[in-house]
Amino acid sequence: MPDSTITKSPLPGLYIVATPIGNLGDISPRAAATLASADLIAAEDTRVTAKLLSHLGLRIAMTPYHDHSDEYIRQQLVARMADEVIVLVSDAGTPLISDPGYKLVRDARHAGRHITTLPGPCAAIAAITLSGLPSDRFLFAGFLPNKAKARADTIAEFKALRATLLFYESGPRLSAALAALADGLGNREAAVAREISKLYEECVTGTLLDLSARYADAPPKGEIVILVGPPDADQHEEGDDDSIDAALREALVDHPVAKAAKTVAKRFGLERQDIYARALAIKGEASNDAAIDIAPK
Ligand code: SAM
Repeated sequence: MPDSTITKSPLPGLYIVATPIGNLGDISPRAAATLASADLIAAEDTRVTAKLLSHLGLRIAMTPYHDHSDEYIRQQLVARMADEVIVLVSDAGTPLISDPGYKLVRDARHAGRHITTLPGPCAAIAAITLSGLPSDRFLFAGFLPNKAKARADTIAEFKALRATLLFYESGPRLSAALAALADGLGNREAAVAREISKLYEECVTGTLLDLSARYADAPPKGEIVILVGPPDADQHEEGDDDSIDAALREALVDHPVAKAAKTVAKRFGLERQDIYARALAIKGEASNDAAIDIAPK
């Protein structure tokens, strides 16, 4: 059962507070109460957080915080957590998710401070709920690198994953990013979720190439999450004769010929009879080798 209690006087420590990603109505009562009870708010950009505080009718001391902030600033914050309520917020959404905070949490943990998190809006999680793509396994990959080679290398790392992939992106880079994803992963099903929880929220679905073409001449405005579906379960691995033989040899270690042939045929999308013949030949070669090995010298 959800616990609706709001602590009146929170314990000293670090409070990680998620804030709206567009609609200010998404601030939770507990997040608002925690902000109200803060001795200090460590904010990614104090001007952005000032607007949220003004919406809530609050005036609380703030300090800017980034993970590249001076070590000294971080140590000061960690020291203050011993007897004060320090709240960490980012400009929007959940701190630490493509946002500052990880080093502060790490150091607070090393110092044995009380740390708690107030869950709330996160663009990646909101996007996967909108997309209609499989949500049982997903990988959040943050922003892709800017440079083409680094971007292609990063995309290649995800190719074999049977999971929906999520990326944060900006309008001007969107079409090129979708094309690079199609290039590296194949033309998979995808979605572009934009301006979630705002007036012009939309989620457009299609293949990566369709979406890339759609946005090529008209880069969209606003904030964007790209989602890419997992590889098709029927998608086959490409393989030449050597890699097919290698796969058969491996399968024959643990399986009889028929089972090994079936598995490898499925993996490479080939006719089972053809692979069966090849599996028999490999098995035959292996038996001959064994016979030669044990032949009297
Ligand atoms: N910490 C945030 C979170 O929990 O989602 C993400 C911060 S990251 C610096 C900002 C990126 O998140 C944007 O460039 C965009 O890709 C995505 N984003 C943030 N708000 C969004 C929204 N309302 N709709 C779609 N994407 C959003």
